[in-house]
Amino acid sequence: MSFGGHVIRTRKIGIMGGTFDPIHYGHLLAAEESFFALDLDEVIFVPTGKPPHKKMRRVSSTEDRYTMTLLATLDNPHFKVSRIEIDRNESSHTVDTLREMRHWYAPDSIQFFFITGLDAVLDITTWKEYTALPSLCNIVAVNRPGYQVGKLEQLPEIFKGNIVPLEIPLLSISSTEIRRRIESGKNVRYLMPELVERYIYKKGLYKRIGR
Ligand code: ATP
Ligand code: MG
Repeated sequence: MSFGGHVIRTRKIGIMGGTFDPIHYGHLLAAEESFFALDLDEVIFVPTGKPPHKKMRRVSSTEDRYTMTLLATLDNPHFKVSRIEIDRNESSHTVDTLREMRHWYAPDSIQFFFITGLDAVLDITTWKEYTALPSLCNIVAVNRPGYQVGKLEQLPEIFKGNIVPLEIPLLSISSTEIRRRIESGKNVRYLMPELVERYIYKKGLYKRIGR
């Protein structure tokens, strides 16, 4: 784009949303692979506030999830962490976050790439105002064990050309599995950065209540 004679280069920004309870190598790999495959300028990790989809289980505090996300991304110069959702009091919705984040930049000077796993993107029609999403961001759908890329065809027409499928090395790691293992005293080494693991033990996260 040209502005007053200067050419403004479009910044391509990846947004990696998640509960991150805890953050693990599956999340970090999805973000890093997207960064290189789509030639992004940076990836912003956005830990959710009160996650609307996870009301059924006890979620760690926003500060613990934020801190773990910071620790996990600390050594990567193109990863950032945003408090936008955790500082908001109501439930987090991607559409609100994207709208708010767009105001931080000059219009037309940015392009957002919302990074999700296939499991999450296949659920997209349950998200608030999902029909508004294609005008706010491109969606990067990274593969995840157990989910078929072919299923993307079943999404509404508005997402055609908006979703970028991205094949990444499959990591069969989930936060649920990590929480289960910690609860039953099993090994979790190499599933997430060591600093995150140490933080979990230091704070006594995911232990069964009453033990
Ligand atoms: P939980 O088991 O609590 O649902 P999770 O491991 O699925 O946790 P989330 O915080 O729910 O992690 O996921 C945030 C985003 O990261 C989602 O878009 C999800 O699809 C993606 N993701 C999580 N784990 C992986 C993985 N191993 N490979 C690729 N994408 C992943
Ligand atoms: Mg999940």
